[in-house]
This record gives sequence, C-alpha cells and structure tokens, in this order.
Amino acid sequence: MESTVAAFKCSLRALPPGLHRRRFAARGVGFDAWIWRGGDGPVLLVNGATHGDEYEGPALLRAWAETWRPENLRGTVVAVPVLNEGAFFAGQRCHPADGGNLARAFPGRARGAVTARLAHLFDTQLLAQCTHYIDLHSAGAAYELLPWTGYIVHPDAAVDRTQRALAAAFAEFWCWAGPFLPGRTLSAAHARGLPAIYVECRGAGGIAPTDLENLDRGLRRVLHRLRLLPGAGPRAPRGQQHFRLTRDADEAHLQIHHPAPADGLFTPAVTVGARIRRGQWVGQVAELGTDAVHRVRAERGGRVVMLRRQRSVRRGDALCTLAPV
Ligand SMILES: [Zn+2]
Repeated sequence: MESTVAAFKCSLRALPPGLHRRRFAARGVGFDAWIWRGGDGPVLLVNGATHGDEYEGPALLRAWAETWRPENLRGTVVAVPVLNEGAFFAGQRCHPADGGNLARAFPGRARGAVTARLAHLFDTQLLAQCTHYIDLHSAGAAYELLPWTGYIVHPDAAVDRTQRALAAAFAEFWCWAGPFLPGRTLSAAHARGLPAIYVECRGAGGIAPTDLENLDRGLRRVLHRLRLLPGAGPRAPRGQQHFRLTRDADEAHLQIHHPAPADGLFTPAVTVGARIRRGQWVGQVAELGTDAVHRVRAERGGRVVMLRRQRSVRRGDALCTLAPV
C-alpha cells in the first residue's frame, strides 16, 4: 500500500490539518486543487469545468476556496474549480488542442493526446485517493437545461445506496440514475468502486443565481451526510426529490436526441421545463443556402429537460432532450 501512496504527487493522507493549495501537473497538462485536511475520515473530491464552458462549478468552488474555513472537519475535502483549463480558457466545451471531450476520455492514458493525459492525471492522482466523488456540470454555452443530479447505477448495493443519498442531498434538483456509459469521470469512479454523482446546472452561457445557491446547499448537505461535518446541515425542501431510474443507456445520453437534420438556423418551438406530446413540433432548422425548412418532431412524450440555445447548428447536433419526468 505504501508504495502506491508514494507514487502520488501529493499524498492527501500525508498533509497536515489545514487548507492547502496544490497544482497537479504532468506532461503539459495540469489543474489546481484546494485541499481542506481535517484528519482521518472520508475524502470527498469535487470538481468543476470538466467541460470548459460550464461556469457554475468553478464559481462555487472558487468561492469556497476564498471563504470556507471549516472547524471540526473530519476527513478531507478536495476541490478542483477548473479541471479542464485548456477548454476553460478557450471558452468551449472541449479542449482546443485535440478537440477531445474530457467526459469521454476516462480513464485516459499517460502518453495519449492532451485530453487523455488530463483524464489519466485526474484519475490516478485524485480519484485514486478519494472515497466519494462529485462532478459539477451544466448545459454550457450552447444549451439550457432543467437542473438535475444523477449517477451511474452501481452493482454494489452499498455503493449505490450512498450514491442515491449523495444525489438526494441536492434536493432542489431532480434525479436521473441510469446504466453505465463509458469515458465519463463517473465511469472511472465506477470502475474504482467509488460512490459518485454528477450535478447539471442550467448553463445557457452564464450562472443562474438560484443554481449557485442550490449547488451550495447541496454540497453542504453532503458534508453533513458523510459526517465530514457534525450536525444536520441545511434543511431540505419539503417533499420527495423527483427520481427517475432508467435502464436505457441512451435515455440520458444528451448528445444523441433530436439531431439537427441539416446545417442551418435553429428556431425552438418549446421551452425548457415544458411538457410535450410525442410527435409535437420541438423546433425547426432552416437551411441557409436553400429555402428548405426542416421541422423536428418529438421522438417521445415528456418534459423538455435540455434544449439547444445556440441557434447555429450543424447537421447531427442535438437539439432537444425529453425525459419522462
Ligand atoms: Zn458538462
């Protein structure tokens, strides 16, 4: 065991109590981490900006780095406000150097392209040292969504129960649990047997203040539920969190639903949160070089949980996701 720990660039267990900032870097990729060390106990890892145009996670975690000075912290909290720095500074979802989507690159490779190396660094240096994991996402610049939290169903019942409890801490968000999908941060956590969830905020190129507040409350509840902090934490709203469990791996695969039938100008006919019927018109794509207008109809009935906000579309871009919630 000790030889494994010695391979870490920063062994979390070896840090003295207090707040530490560490940069993890190798082979031209890296990220900054804030580490609150309180002693033995759970190690919670939270990051933002797996995708570079998602700002809620970075804003929340950067604010925590400035202001959060917990007393009585049992265990360790590690926050990486911006995991994918290349994509973040380019203001785009994927890394500009190789076009790689970090949420499809896990577990990565030490000697792969930039995105694969970043995935490998995060997996081997931080996921390998934590006991619980939360990945903060949003719809980014090109989409808007109905905020939710979710996880990959785990065959180990204890891991799965913990995931459900972590997701329930984000009580203001609805919950979407589904089967394994490869390449995600959560896939790497799943392979390591770690309870892991993600949270999706509204996005739309900015930060909704209510999302930031709800994210903050959710994270604080997690700290109390994992007993990293004593006491009960922020009170949850009344009523049950809406919970959707699917066995269909494609259901929550956001990039495949209602693909644009052509390059052109997208005009939505629905709004985020609306309930619509199967066959109802969700929007249209007008080609630029012809007078063709393609109407796009709902593949299923349900609620609009994600909608394309960027009006320029390429053939195949996802326009809308519907879920039975
Ligand atoms: Zn994302």
